[in-house]
Amino acid sequence: MMKNKNVKTTGVYVHIPFCVKKCNYCDFLSFASDDKTKERYINALCREISAYCEDKKIAADTVFIGGGTPSVLKPELIERLMKTVREGFSLTEDCEITIEANPGTVDEKKAEVYRDAGINRISLGVQSLDDDILKRLGRIHSRKEFLKTYELLRNKGFDNINTDLMFSLPSQSFDKWKETLEEIISLKPEHISFYSLIIEEGTPFYDEWLKGSLKEISDDDDRRMYHYASDKLKEKGYIHYEISNAALPGRGSRHNLKYWSMDEYAGFGLGAHSFIDGVRYEDTHDMEEYLLLYSGDLRSRKERYNVINRNTVKDNAEEFVFTGLRKLEGIYKDDFHRLIGRSIYDIYSEEIAKMVKEGLLKDHGGRIALTTKGVDISNYVMREFIKDEWKL
Ligand code: SF4
Repeated sequence: MMKNKNVKTTGVYVHIPFCVKKCNYCDFLSFASDDKTKERYINALCREISAYCEDKKIAADTVFIGGGTPSVLKPELIERLMKTVREGFSLTEDCEITIEANPGTVDEKKAEVYRDAGINRISLGVQSLDDDILKRLGRIHSRKEFLKTYELLRNKGFDNINTDLMFSLPSQSFDKWKETLEEIISLKPEHISFYSLIIEEGTPFYDEWLKGSLKEISDDDDRRMYHYASDKLKEKGYIHYEISNAALPGRGSRHNLKYWSMDEYAGFGLGAHSFIDGVRYEDTHDMEEYLLLYSGDLRSRKERYNVINRNTVKDNAEEFVFTGLRKLEGIYKDDFHRLIGRSIYDIYSEEIAKMVKEGLLKDHGGRIALTTKGVDISNYVMREFIKDEWKL
């Protein structure tokens, strides 16, 4: 069936904040919990989704069940959640439906339930295939468990799998990174994410770093690992399409591309963000408040979200540039014009010229994109596009 381009479709994000235990580097909204809380949470989540949709039947072309570790939930809870999503949204025929899972938390039954519920993409948190490093990170699984989970998912028919990897890890030599990456590539997952470790405040790694017992890897080593991955992935047929993401042709994450393209998405669950009709919303981060809010009679949609920002034209321009530049194909000047109503050069001619001169951006044809040097210091490049005031 042809997709009607005039019909607006949204992405759906559902947050599951539960994990078996907290990893040493993690500052995501996630924690261990008991079965009763998990069940209460799914009840509240389903109510939130149903109340948002009411009788609207909004068309959705991506669903992302993220976390946390959604695969810690009992399969019947995921079944119920997917049923609610389908009742609320009109999912397109080719809807990309992803669930995040960790090795060691998926068994045959869960994999079958995911598949039968229409989940067609699995994002596996692997991080490393070195058992010592996994232990150091506080991960709950071993290399062997990952391989077993990966095989199980393939056997159950999943043909779209992402593996999340990390580099610049404590005690990770270049050779260890190379081994992990190459072994993962040999398994041929459709998608590979590769992120450099960031030591976040409030994590056990941060405390160790303050005490001096955790040493950060040098910038040169970090960049060496990154470029090695980028080159190797390209050599093996992957398209390095976003700063930290590569995929086989046609297998880029359609859901995440929405975030980098300023497309709409509706988020549900603790701390979930939404971007709807030019407004950014955020759900409460407080579990008790969340459960209470969605426990009985539901309030109106307006009350259910905290509005965090009604985007101005200036916000839209900045977000378009700094999220869009994460895509290695860059941003299209025509898209900027359509969204903002003005040429990108009316607003950013000086910044673009400066960055091109410094070899950080390339301005060619209809697009502006980061150069390889620009990717290495992308935060600096993106900051340049946030201005106190616009010269009109
Ligand atoms: S499994 Fe993921 S979300 Fe959970 S604690 Fe570890 S890194 Fe954080």
